[in-house]
Order: sequence, then C-alpha cells, then structure tokens
Amino acid sequence: MSAYPRIALHIAGAWRDRPGEPVLNPFDDSVLGTVPHATREDLDDALAAATEGQRIWRATSPAARADILRRAAALLRERAPGIATAVTLEQGKPLAQAKLEVIRAAEIIEWDAEEGRRAYGRVIPAEPGMRNIVLREPIGLVAGFAPWNFPVSSPTRKVAGALAAGCALILKASEETPAGAFHLVQAFLDAGLPKGVLSLVFGNPAMISEYLIPQDAVRLVTFTGSVPVGKRLASLAGAHMKPCIMELGGHGPVIVCGDADPVAAAHLSAQVKSRNSGQVCVSPTRFFVDDAVHDRFAEAFGEKARGIRLGSGMDPETQMGPVANHRRLEAMQRLVADAVARGARLLAGGERVGNQGCQFPLTVLADVPDDALAMTEEPFGPLALISRTRGIGEGIARANSLPFGLAAYAFTDSAPNVERLSEELECGNLSINHLTASFAETPFGGVKDSGYGREGGTEGLACYTVAKNVSHKIR
Ligand code: NAD
Repeated sequence: MSAYPRIALHIAGAWRDRPGEPVLNPFDDSVLGTVPHATREDLDDALAAATEGQRIWRATSPAARADILRRAAALLRERAPGIATAVTLEQGKPLAQAKLEVIRAAEIIEWDAEEGRRAYGRVIPAEPGMRNIVLREPIGLVAGFAPWNFPVSSPTRKVAGALAAGCALILKASEETPAGAFHLVQAFLDAGLPKGVLSLVFGNPAMISEYLIPQDAVRLVTFTGSVPVGKRLASLAGAHMKPCIMELGGHGPVIVCGDADPVAAAHLSAQVKSRNSGQVCVSPTRFFVDDAVHDRFAEAFGEKARGIRLGSGMDPETQMGPVANHRRLEAMQRLVADAVARGARLLAGGERVGNQGCQFPLTVLADVPDDALAMTEEPFGPLALISRTRGIGEGIARANSLPFGLAAYAFTDSAPNVERLSEELECGNLSINHLTASFAETPFGGVKDSGYGREGGTEGLACYTVAKNVSHKIR
C-alpha cells in the first residue's frame, strides 16, 4: 500500500473522485497525489445529505454518539503510524510530531465524546405554577474550514466539537494537506457514523465558502486561518445571520521577567519555536526580555537554535522539517531581510537551506526594532524576535500593542507579576512558566483580530449549541 492515500471527496455516504490539483511534498517539491475539486452539484449533494444526517444525528442519544466518537478515536490511535507518515509527506513536520498530532486528535475526540453527554440545561426558579427550563440543543448543520498547518488536529477540533454536540458538519479541509482530514473522516465512517452526518470537500476555497455559508441549512460557520480570510467569512456569515467560531492568527508575545531563569526559558523557547517549523497560531514569537536577563537569554536561545537539526520529516534525526509551502519560505526571506536592514542582529539561521523544497532554519533575531515588518506581521514560520525591555509594564504594553490577541506567555516566579500579567495581557490564552497554549479540556481562542468563539473545553462545545428557554405555566 502506498504511504500517501488516494484523496477523494466524501459526500452522501460515498467517496467521489473529481479532477483537481497536485499535492506537493514541501521537502523536495515532489508530487504526492491529487486533491479533487468539488463542483456546485457536489456541494448541493452534500447539503441534501447533511440535512438528513442532521435529523438522524440529533435524534441519536448522547451515549450512542459518544460510542461512535470513542471508536473513531481508537481507530486513529491504531492507525497513527500510517496517518502520521501521510501528514509528514504532505506538510513537512517530523514524523514524531505528526504522530503526536494524531494522538492529540484522539484525545480531543475522547474528551468531547464524554463532555457531549453532559450538555445539561437548567431549571430556573419561578413563581408558583411556573417552570422555566433551559434546554441546550444542537445548533444544526456546521460548515467548517480547516487550514494546512495541523492536517489532523485542526479539522478534529471542528469535527469532534460538532459531532459531540449533536451537529452534522460539512468540512472543507486544506487542499495543500488533504490526507489528514481524509484519514479522519475514514475513521469516523469505520466507527459507524451514519451517512450524511460528516461530509468532506476540497476545491476552490472562495467558491466553496461563498456557496455554503449563505445556505439556509447551514447554522454555524467555523474557520481556522488568517485574519483577512476570517474577516471575509465572518462578514458573509453576518450578512446571513450565521454565528461563527473564528480561530485566526496570533503573534505570540513572551514576557521574560527579571526574576526568571533565562537559560531554561531560552532552551524551552527554542524547542517550542521549532515545533511545526513555527507554523502554529500560538507559536511564541515576540520575546520581550527584561534587561536583567536579556543577554543570557539571547545567547542561550541562539546557541540552542543553531543546534536544531533541520531536514526531512521522515528522517528520525530531524528536529525541524521544512516550512509547508513556498509562500511561507518567501515570507521568511522577506521578513528576515527587512529586520536585518533595520538593524536587527542575526543570532541563528536566516537563510534558506538548499534550492529545492522549503527548508528554512530556526532563525533568531535580537535587537529587533518595533518598526521591523516581522514585529507586526504574523511570521507563521521559524522566526524568533528578541527585544530588550525595562520592567514588566513595558513588556505588557508592547505585547498588547498589536491587533492580535491569541496566546501570550510569561516566565516569572513572582506572584504579583502573575497577578498583573493575568489581568493586563490582552489574549485568549495565557501560559506562565510553560509554552503550551491549549489542551483538550480547556477553552482555546482569541480576542481582538484573533477571532471569537472557543474550541475545546465546555466553552468550545457550548458554541455548537443554542439555549432554548421553555416557560411552562402548570396551572
Ligand atoms: P491565506 O490567507 O491564503 O489562507 C489561510 C487559510 O484560509 C488557508 O487554509 C486557505 O485554504 C483558507 N482560505 C483562503 N481563502 C478562503 C476563502 N475565501 N474561503 C475559505 N477558506 C479560505 O494564507 P496562507 O498562505 O494559506 O497561510 C498564511 C497565513 O494564514 C499565515 O500567515 C497565518 O496567519 C494564517 N494561518 C493561520 C492558521 C491558524 O492556525 N490560525 C492556520 C493556517 C494559516
């Protein structure tokens, strides 16, 4: 069997072939396969099947839904080595990271499966003879749009949340990394998901979103991707009165306080920055480091980054794979050239490796001026930007200075600092003394331009439900 699957659309309980576009391996630009493009007729068929699927799924008991979700998670765990290989080939990340991504997807599904059984309503005390009952009902059919950086776990957030809450979903996953979603959908089908509940389409992203979002049957839009596309989809959804979950870009600030251990913080930062070659919306990017520890932090970061082994994700020695496409490679070259021209100091990396594929090393820049493009534009790649600050107040002000507000991080052992950071940082997720922004059981999402709505946790599942108040006069 080939390591890369033959990709198809999944509509009305069957896989469909269509002509499409090539899928490339970012390590060497080789062609892995073809991703089919859905036509309008395919989308109409998916909508018709999903309308029926929604009716069936809503009438399925929460316990029976949870059984199917748990079976799908078990299949993902069982199939993790094969799925991870396909993800590494299409997206570039090291195989070990791809395996962890599949396991994380299974964890998300398992948690949502259990929590979906607890969509408790409320009984609100009322005057004698009256009863006010709040029911939490599935919101209905969801149109989900997932990006290329996490081919399995990003679609999983949407699929698991929707299904656990009793919603059907039409998923448009990334054309550049379609195998993750393909395997995910296959696992749900093999787990016994009824026909029509989950459809998978690929194609022209603008055509698909502009066709699906206005449809009466679609009741919620969920999108993960860039701020400009998110704003476009949110305005289309708004024009048709559809609520949204928008998980958009970030520009992860990290505040390293004067009391932190600079070497430990730098080593962890280099390791986490290299994850998925920095193509993570919560990747730590702007390092605001107190003058007291700045030099030791910058030196340790540069040294650790220079030791990170770049290469093919299929090589077990590789610690960081290529970036996922030539757009990211060109963005890294442009942002580094601009920062250096404005006076930033290069401590590690900075230049493309080889002339085939998309290899760009972990790059560390110090003394980066605030007017460097990289300080305001989300790099979405392996770029770490270090700036000297004097006092926590300056760090917080500079962290908050951008329109983004997704994940923020800090290193400190001082309780007053923790209190201040918790209150003053404008973000959806704050992690202190570690660099993990989301877990299956915690709400994840942004403020400001980084979006709204949450994925994960009870808050995430609540986004897939609506509250209905039933007020009953008994006599
Ligand atoms: P892009 O803005 O062209 O696309 C972003 C995503 O949106 C892609 O997955 C794309 O397929 C999808 N998309 C584009 N137009 C669409 C439309 N009209 N309808 C529906 N979906 C549409 O950027 P890109 O070059 O693919 O990625 C680069 C930028 O995207 C990064 O700088 C980063 O900010 C952002 N991004 C964010 C995340 C995230 O996890 N939040 C993931 C991937 C990309």
